[in-house]
Amino acid sequence: MNQPLTSSEPLPTLPLQSDSLLPVIESPAGHSTTDVRRPIMDLTVQELTDWLKSIGQPGFRAKQIRRWLVEHRITSFDQMTDVPAALRKQLDEHFRFSPFEVVNHQIARDQTEKLLLRLHDGELVECVLMRDPDRRTVCISTQVGCAMGCVFCASGLLGVKRNLTPTEIIEQVLVLHRMMKDDERITNVVVMGIGEPLANYRSLMQSLTFLTDEEGFGLGARRITVSTVGLPDKIRELAQSGQQFNLAVSLHAPNDVLRSEIVPINKSIGIQEILDAADEYFTLTGRRISYEYVLMAGINDRPEHAEELAFILRGRNAHVNLIPMNGVNELVMTAPRDPDTQEFLQILQYEGITATVRKRKGADIDAACGQLRLNRETKRD
Ligand code: SAH
Repeated sequence: MNQPLTSSEPLPTLPLQSDSLLPVIESPAGHSTTDVRRPIMDLTVQELTDWLKSIGQPGFRAKQIRRWLVEHRITSFDQMTDVPAALRKQLDEHFRFSPFEVVNHQIARDQTEKLLLRLHDGELVECVLMRDPDRRTVCISTQVGCAMGCVFCASGLLGVKRNLTPTEIIEQVLVLHRMMKDDERITNVVVMGIGEPLANYRSLMQSLTFLTDEEGFGLGARRITVSTVGLPDKIRELAQSGQQFNLAVSLHAPNDVLRSEIVPINKSIGIQEILDAADEYFTLTGRRISYEYVLMAGINDRPEHAEELAFILRGRNAHVNLIPMNGVNELVMTAPRDPDTQEFLQILQYEGITATVRKRKGADIDAACGQLRLNRETKRD
């Protein structure tokens, strides 16, 4: 590779894709709040029952309150109409309705919605709702920033600040659910937002348990996809969970020399280890593995890369998701040319590898992973 992947030079700014965005909400970036109330979703139903009893309220109200929080499309305790007004007031005194505040809300022409959320300590994360005729997919974040350092990704440019709590992960699904129209419901969740989900494994698993639990959000495990840079031990642990989550592995290169340049963490892992762990995942769960491959012009989009990728995936039950890179203002890498993407796809298919090119959603808003947060963080001093 003769092209540097990152640059400290001021870069030619890509045309901002936000000319037609509709900022429904825009409030100034702030820092930590002084609100010390616990987010109510931090409490299990049992803990909520105990708290209610401690203030002389019947325990059955816990499930009633929980239903309001999980199923209904309300935005404050005050809207819990079958909860006595005095109790609604007490709830508001002791708990926060949501662990975060929506500071920016964009709606794209294709009805993709993207939220920038401010957490109680001032940190920012993003989540996205994508609409297809027959599905509503939510993309959620698991960390503030990311430590993996993938060179094409806006999320990791500022490193990782901290893990999200289970409530902060779950609530991204709930906040988008509450914003949807009455006749819409979330059908799929992809853990593909900011952060490396398997590096925040405990919180991830608690969140997924809530999302799949009948008493929680009640979504089938097969409707949930966990996207990872490829941490073999954690892939194996996820395989042991006994749940049929979909696994997407972000490969981005067909050999270790190139992958270590694009995905720095690869230096200490290596593609073979990841493929072995993914094979085990398939054996244990029966779920076909998706390999994600962000195509960058002149870097990993050449015909020989496609041939090599087909070679390493041959015989595996795999699907390749080709993703033309979204431009990130701070980076020199660019999207591949359309004919190159098509040729790459055709080579894979000719070699017998199932592959598709990912449809772009929310093209007219800051859709690249972590771009919204990055824009905000780089404006703040
Ligand atoms: N850390 C996890 C999940 C977050 S990144 C992982 O590596 O899979 C999830 C996906 O975001 C990546 O596979 C990549 O497909 C996508 N992504 C990130 N930055 C992108 C960009 N600039 N253009 C296109 N896709 C990007």
